[in-house]
Amino acid sequence: MHGQGSRNDQDFFIAEQVRTDRLQQLFRQSITAVFGSYLAAVMLCWLCWDRFEHSVVLVWLALLTGSTLLRIALFVAYVRSDESKRTPQRWERKYWITLVLSASIWGGGALAVMPADDLLSQALVMLFTVGMSVSAVSCYSAYRDMTLVSIGLVLLPCTAWLLLQPSQLQVGMALCILVFAAFVARATHKMSQALETAFRLTREMEQANSISTRAAQTDELTGLKSRRAFFEHAQQLYNECRANRLELCAVMLDMDHFKHINDTYGHQVGDQVLRQMGMVINSSFRATDIHGRLGGEEFAILLPNTSIEVATEIAEELIQTIGGLMIEPVNCVTASLGVASTQAGHKDLHSLMNNADQALYRAKALGRNQVAVAR
Ligand code: GH3
Ligand code: MG
Ligand code: MG
Repeated sequence: MHGQGSRNDQDFFIAEQVRTDRLQQLFRQSITAVFGSYLAAVMLCWLCWDRFEHSVVLVWLALLTGSTLLRIALFVAYVRSDESKRTPQRWERKYWITLVLSASIWGGGALAVMPADDLLSQALVMLFTVGMSVSAVSCYSAYRDMTLVSIGLVLLPCTAWLLLQPSQLQVGMALCILVFAAFVARATHKMSQALETAFRLTREMEQANSISTRAAQTDELTGLKSRRAFFEHAQQLYNECRANRLELCAVMLDMDHFKHINDTYGHQVGDQVLRQMGMVINSSFRATDIHGRLGGEEFAILLPNTSIEVATEIAEELIQTIGGLMIEPVNCVTASLGVASTQAGHKDLHSLMNNADQALYRAKALGRNQVAVAR
């Protein structure tokens, strides 16, 4: 039940990330459309200046200037906004409004400037509207609906008008444009799907990667750091202490007669003891200390900025805590500990750990359930 819930949460989280990725892609890709569509209108008017009604051209360009400035303002606001605020909820609607406005002005204006009696300029206008539609595919591919709506608004007014004309040539031109538009619409479908799949796979891979990294860092049984994670963090801490001339103590811990516990009470009880050890170790140290399970029933702890006397005291306390553990049906659990300090002059982390290990062997040899300090 819980697994299902968290699975749904993950899917929802990824879906949200993909939506945000698409929004980012939209803003990245479509900045050219803002200037491109304005430029296209200016070029069309320049080419057909002698054929178009001048007052209509000027009104059209004035309206387009307004809508283009509005779109630029939107882009500037987006780029200036904090990255955490660039969410689909905040920006999609605004984007839609400016897009629909400018595409309507473009399509409506193209129809308004098109002279009813001049076939050549009609063909030129249609050439530009088709060119705009093709560019829309490259600019809005992250949002298929936007591509289709902008193509429709730019292309349909003129095309519909042509369809209603008596000349066969005009109707034929309109039909050809509709066929082109159908191909373009199909292409947008494939492109936006491919893009969405790419975004989703990337996010899923990121998530899987972070899950497996976390799993590799944690020992499953005790919840402590795994051997690998321990040594990674230990090396960092060792370097920091060395750079800041701080004393660093290592404590090695090995459970006493653990094989006997397994043999007498079973492996599951042994696991239970190890779990309890994980809890004890996890709750006994400062946030700056590092601890982990090195393997089997062996644990290690690093205490930065700590003298060997304090480290030994801490180790003694740990022995007391372990001795007081009540893990049914085991009567008594004990451990042996070895302590070593960088003050003894070690050349690296591993020689420090080795010295703590040798002290641990001495604690075993001296009768177990005790702390030995490296000489
Ligand atoms: P000593 O006091 O000398 O350390 O004796 P010991 O029995 O603890 O030492 P030894 O290293 O011979 O035995 C360690 C045992 O720990 C052997 C192994 O089966 C057991 N062990 C290692 N990993 C696990 C584990 O994950 N779960 C359980 N239940 N036992 C484990
Ligand atoms: Mg042991
Ligand atoms: Mg051992």
